[in-house]
Amino acid sequence: MSISKRFDKSCKIISNKEICNDYFELKIKADGISKHCFPGQFFMIGAPGVFLRRPISVHDVGKNTSSFLYKVVGKGTKILSSMRSGELQLLGPLGKGYDLETYKESNHVIVAGGTGIASVYFLATKLKKKGILYYGAHVA
Ligand SMILES: Cc1cc2nc3c(=O)[nH]c(=O)nc-3n(C[C@H](O)[C@H](O)[C@H](O)COP(=O)(O)OP(=O)(O)OC[C@H]3O[C@@H](n4cnc5c(N)ncnc54)[C@H](O)[C@@H]3O)c2cc1C
Repeated sequence: MSISKRFDKSCKIISNKEICNDYFELKIKADGISKHCFPGQFFMIGAPGVFLRRPISVHDVGKNTSSFLYKVVGKGTKILSSMRSGELQLLGPLGKGYDLETYKESNHVIVAGGTGIASVYFLATKLKKKGILYYGAHVA
C-alpha cells in the first residue's frame, strides 16, 4: 500500500454515542479525508484539556465521514466521551494499514480482541472474499 495523504485538521463531530458500557462510536465530518483512509490506519485525536492526542483506529468511513470505536479507559477518552458536538483536532491517517493487495485472493481468518474489533470491521468491509472472524472479549 502506498503512503496515504495526511491531514492535521479540525473536524466537526456529527455524533458521539455510547453503544454499550463505556464503548462509544464517534462520527466526524471528514470532507476530503475519508477517501485517504485504509483499514488498519489510525488518527491521533485531540481532546480539550489533555496535552497529547490519543491514537484511535479508523472504524468505518462514509463518503465524507469517518467513524471511530473507542473504549473509555482514562482521562483522554473520558473527556472525548463527554463531547456531543464541536470540533476535534485530528492528525492522520497514520500507519501503513493492512496489506489488502498481497492477500486479496486468500481465504481470510481475522483475529481480534476487545477494541481491536474497531479496525477489523473496516477491514472486513474491504475484503473481496468471505472470511472467518475470531473475536475475544471479557464479557458478552
Ligand atoms: C495505533 C493505536 C490504535 C488504537 N486504536 C484504538 C481504538 O480504535 N479504540 C480504542 O478504544 N482504543 C484504541 N487504542 C488505544 C487508545 O489509544 C487508548 O485507550 C487511549 O490512548 C487511552 O487514553 P486515555 O487518556 O483515555 O487513558 P490514559 O489516561 O492514557 O490511561 C489511563 C489508564 O488506562 C490504561 N490504559 C490506557 N490504554 C489502555 C487500553 N487500551 N486498555 C487497557 N488499559 C489502558 C493506562 O495504562 C492507564 O493506567 C489504540 C492505540 C494505538 C496505539
